[in-house]
Amino acid sequence: MERYSRQVRVTGIGEAGQQRLAQSRVLIVGCGALGTHLADALVRAGVGELVLVDRDIVEWSNLQRQVLFSEADAKAGTPKAIAAATRLREANSEVRILPHVADCSAAFLDELPGTLSLVLDGTDNFRTRYLLNDWCGRQRVPWIYGGAVGSEGAAMVMLPGGPCLRCLWPEPPAHTDVGNCETAGILAPTIAAVTAFQVAEALKLLVGHASTRGVFTCDVWRGSYSVLPLAQHPAADCPACSRREFPALHSAPHEAVTLCGRDAVQVDPGSSALDLTALHLRLLPVATDVMRTPHLLRFAADGCRFSVFPGGRALLFGVRDPLRARALYDRWIGGL
Ligand SMILES: [Zn+2]
Repeated sequence: MERYSRQVRVTGIGEAGQQRLAQSRVLIVGCGALGTHLADALVRAGVGELVLVDRDIVEWSNLQRQVLFSEADAKAGTPKAIAAATRLREANSEVRILPHVADCSAAFLDELPGTLSLVLDGTDNFRTRYLLNDWCGRQRVPWIYGGAVGSEGAAMVMLPGGPCLRCLWPEPPAHTDVGNCETAGILAPTIAAVTAFQVAEALKLLVGHASTRGVFTCDVWRGSYSVLPLAQHPAADCPACSRREFPALHSAPHEAVTLCGRDAVQVDPGSSALDLTALHLRLLPVATDVMRTPHLLRFAADGCRFSVFPGGRALLFGVRDPLRARALYDRWIGGL
């Protein structure tokens, strides 16, 4: 217990709280800026099991704020979940860390074994957040929203029974209404402020302490930090809280989605038994920079860089239009 001695002394944790942390099972969705900060803090705090899911690979522009990654990861294009898990195991070998290189879909969440104590939002898009909202609402699992753009951030605890994300915003905000990391940039202290709130609330929830009610907002450049009070009851017309309808669980999966603020599109045809070794051999004479790693196959063609994962999911860099990405996918991967 030497490892946790300073944490155990904090009022509200104690030996009993530390034991509850060790029995907890937390899912972090997204291993980018928010996700790496969240994972680092929870693994060091001594949660029992941490499930990580991320669909992306490490790039040079991540290193400014995504604390678990190294230059070697960016060079190799290592999947973020794998690189994060490697670093986290070095920080605390007592925590079971289960990385998944995958898109967080309803099917993915349904297939997770066991019961989760808590879900933490480390995503960069509202499509996935509404999915988390609805899945957690149906499963009655608490989750903690977090978002950060530029110098501004927000976070909120969503408890079973509401209020939930749909109570605040019935529909996901339009793509043009929310800035993203490419247009507005992102400061590392914004991530630190948002995840400080998320991690503190996560620890409180996991040890059985009451949560802060309200929306945390900050602008780290202006130096303003506040918790806006929130109605204590769910919105009367919220489909999730009032009727237990969860629209995001029934929407068709998107085959091609543009990644937040990037010249990159994910193409996921769903059920495919793609043979990466066979694809590798066929691409060698026709594509450039063909490279096979334990986790993926990379190559360049038609001015686009591809990272293909076992199962057929692919990230296409240098393209923004989902239709064009789908066509390139069919030409170089699906059609072969
Ligand atoms: Zn609601």
